[in-house]
Amino acid sequence: MSVARPPLIVAIDGPAGAGKSTVARALAQRFGLLNLESGAMYRAFALKAIEAGIATNDPAALDLLAHSTHVRLEPGLDGNRVLLDGLDVTAQLRTPEITAAASEVSVHPPIRRWLVGLQQRLGAQGNVVMEGRDIGTVVFPHAPVKIFLDASPDKRGERRYEQNRNTAVVTQLPVKVLEEIRERDRRDRTRADSPLRPAPDAAIIDSTDLTLDEVIERAAALVEGYLGGSDL
Ligand code: C5P
Repeated sequence: MSVARPPLIVAIDGPAGAGKSTVARALAQRFGLLNLESGAMYRAFALKAIEAGIATNDPAALDLLAHSTHVRLEPGLDGNRVLLDGLDVTAQLRTPEITAAASEVSVHPPIRRWLVGLQQRLGAQGNVVMEGRDIGTVVFPHAPVKIFLDASPDKRGERRYEQNRNTAVVTQLPVKVLEEIRERDRRDRTRADSPLRPAPDAAIIDSTDLTLDEVIERAAALVEGYLGGSDL
């Protein structure tokens, strides 16, 4: 007798600029999954904190603010639409100011607990790919497919610079982009609560010397391996 497989959850973690969003989007399209960007939730909350004039290093005030904040992700093929207290703030979330503030608010355990809970509810029914920093370690530790996507800091800085240039939302010099990436990495990797690290059972893909297509094919092979595997 065959037993149903657990719902498909693909967890993609890794540092900024490693290509997580692009790979998540490609997997979502290929396998018909909902694509959920957990970082967008930290960004939306950072926007709210800035608008409320609350310092990102004031955990008590942030916690209070979180209690009156509604963050909603609406997955779409081109990325997520983010609703903050019912308003679409998607276009406001990629500025350097919000990027830095998201990284700062995300170190606080009550903020993480709140957003992790939302993420778990969003992904619970399966058929999702969720990207972030702690998806395979904390949000979905039993996800059947876990990918840790990495690349050298120089390469990630270069890619992020190109990306920013194309969107024209951000105008930062390459050296500034690299500096910001290094600072975010340091904060993400060294925070006490849910630091960025690969889950022990994650497949590590180093994309430094790979093309985007090669990375996507490796990631897709992991999903196919799960879908084609024998029933558990
Ligand atoms: O992925 P993205 O760059 O949008 O994330 C913004 C910030 O939110 C990250 O720098 C990280 O500090 C934080 N984050 C997190 N845990 C996640 C997703 C994002 O701490 N699961």
